[in-house]
Amino acid sequence: MPNITERLNSAINSIRFFEKKSQRVENSVELIAVSKTKPISDIEQAIAAGQRHFGENYVQEGVEKVLHFDDSSLTWHFIGPLQSNKTRVVAENFDWIHTIDRLKIAKRLNEQRGVFQKPLQILIQVNISDEESKSGVSPDEVMALATELAQFDRLTVRGLMTIGVKTDDLSVINKQFDKMHQLLQQLKKEFDTVDTLSMGMSSDIEQAIGNGSTMVRIGSAIFGARAPK
Ligand SMILES: *Cc1c(COP(=O)(O)O)cnc(C)c1O
Repeated sequence: MPNITERLNSAINSIRFFEKKSQRVENSVELIAVSKTKPISDIEQAIAAGQRHFGENYVQEGVEKVLHFDDSSLTWHFIGPLQSNKTRVVAENFDWIHTIDRLKIAKRLNEQRGVFQKPLQILIQVNISDEESKSGVSPDEVMALATELAQFDRLTVRGLMTIGVKTDDLSVINKQFDKMHQLLQQLKKEFDTVDTLSMGMSSDIEQAIGNGSTMVRIGSAIFGARAPK
């Protein structure tokens, strides 16, 4: 049995360590605990240890968890691919969506977000490594999409998200993460709601934090390995 409390504390310690190492402000990087495929009891342990931000990839499973906890002190991040026929429950139940790369999906989310709810906090996913298998817009499409999204009153454009390329060559990762940081700076100049860069997973949090990430997404290092889905 993995000890979730210990693993969580060790993830937080790493984040604080890399903040310091790269002269970032303490607590400027938020940990999203990625609980996809993991049972409610694991999330309960993480909550008991003080964790409040959780990431989920699958619509049905994610919404079930949000509704199960029904706890306004928790923040739920949808970090998986989103199809247009599944937007409604995501719009109604999640707080953040990290994977916006199409206007059509955003338009539906805007229509489906409850009028009495806080606007959905959204991030544009960028395919910074230009891999064919990956979702996300290319860097030169970011500004145009953000401009369209900024017109939706039930959505708030908070920034950018990316998934780092799988490589042992840290210079490649650093270069791509630096590009993301520059893109975010450009976006910030145009939109005063922008303050978030969701970048970094277990294998690349040092490079992510060194390049200005404000949210890292860590799953298996906290909850243990996942069974293949
Ligand atoms: C699953 C997932 C993570 C966490 O991955 P781990 O390898 O479990 O740390 C982070 N970001 C995204 C987008 C994911 O799908």
